[in-house]
Amino acid sequence: MATLTFLGAAGTVTGSRYLLEAGGERLMIDCGLFQGPKELRLRNWANFPVTPQSIEWLVLTHAHLDHTGYIPRLVKQGFRGPIFASAATVDVAKLLLLDSAYLQEEDAAYANKKGFSKHKPALPLYTHQDALESLNRFHAVDESKPLELSSHFSLRFLRAGHILGARIIEVTVSDSGQTRRLIFSGDLGRNHQLVIREPEVPETGDFLLMESTYGDRLHPTDDFRERLASIVKTTASRGGTVIVPAFAVGRTQELLYVLRELLETKRLPSLPVHVDSPMAIDVTDLYRQHHEDHNLPMETIEAQGVKPFSPSGVHFDRSPEESKALNDSRFPVIIISASGMATGGRVLHHLARCLPDPRNTVLLVGFQAPGTRGHSLQSGAQFVKMHGAMVQVRASIQSMDNLSAHADAGEIMQWLGRFRSPPRQTFLVHGEPRAAEALRQKIVATLGWSVDVSSYLLKLHL
Ligand SMILES: [Zn+2]
Repeated sequence: MATLTFLGAAGTVTGSRYLLEAGGERLMIDCGLFQGPKELRLRNWANFPVTPQSIEWLVLTHAHLDHTGYIPRLVKQGFRGPIFASAATVDVAKLLLLDSAYLQEEDAAYANKKGFSKHKPALPLYTHQDALESLNRFHAVDESKPLELSSHFSLRFLRAGHILGARIIEVTVSDSGQTRRLIFSGDLGRNHQLVIREPEVPETGDFLLMESTYGDRLHPTDDFRERLASIVKTTASRGGTVIVPAFAVGRTQELLYVLRELLETKRLPSLPVHVDSPMAIDVTDLYRQHHEDHNLPMETIEAQGVKPFSPSGVHFDRSPEESKALNDSRFPVIIISASGMATGGRVLHHLARCLPDPRNTVLLVGFQAPGTRGHSLQSGAQFVKMHGAMVQVRASIQSMDNLSAHADAGEIMQWLGRFRSPPRQTFLVHGEPRAAEALRQKIVATLGWSVDVSSYLLKLHL
């Protein structure tokens, strides 16, 4: 009999990994890194719950590291199968994994230099070379037909919204004369995202694994263009800098798109916008190339000579020298820099410099997982720890969830309401316990479906 095991994203938003077993074969869906609190991050270092050599295939919903960031380590530990994903996901994941390896190595080197790690020497979870080797296993899927892996597994990909390349994966599992259909929602996007098309709706399935990141919340409905303009203008009038720790994939491109509109329509005075993240710059190029997921009329836009992701006065700062030069900037300026939850990357240097000055603003534009610096800032921390030192927080901290790439509770309910018939069983994944429980109650009360919140390492007979 086929089984499903929850290897992550159970009771938390990170570490998405699910294992399907049928007819003695193993298929893994997503292979994410655990991020946030230390007890979760330690799972990245523990032995993998099943032997990596015994897994035949890996399939990815999308490129975010909480769905892909463990791949180099899985390959290092012996996984030898192909990794399937949409063409855009393959391209984006390559960038993210190399960057992730770079950050792992940089953090380990920095910890060794400063001697603040308990581990001597501090080691990276994986290296650049490990990441490069894992990239050889990636294959872009032909989405025009089902992906038949074997007599036991057949897959279909549906648009998930969320970010470039994101997909919902429908898996048909056959074992011992029984056939089951499972739907992995991956991360579900919103109905009206700026750049990426809305999610498709599967007809139904026996089992649905539904993300619940915003299961207890609704996104604000105020005019985010107005709010962004007001935050930038207020900060600029004090002579301050706006630092936006932004996810390199999706959020950066949407911010650039909105800033271009605001500058073009003179709702913002002209001021320099810096994208200080080589990866965000590379991903912006991929957003330009992969039109298949866009709801923007790219051909029309570009025929008119408009570069959708290039506001006037934008600087794409690739080199470390350009990044360091920003430390001396004295005029009002917007700096968009990764990582989005301030867990690493160049944004740390900007935060260390800008947080103690009350003229500056830190604008958080995405979900901040508990345990991250972004979450501490959002929760009103007076100090945050950066590279072993405590940095005082006197800058204004603002949050804007309007640009979220995740459906909120209302949008999830709408999406579920469009299923042709209820799944036999729905499992909520990828959510903090409170968000998942709130969504569970809402689905039960509104749709009358049978819903459980998933738990780590739970193994289910299908
Ligand atoms: Zn995601």
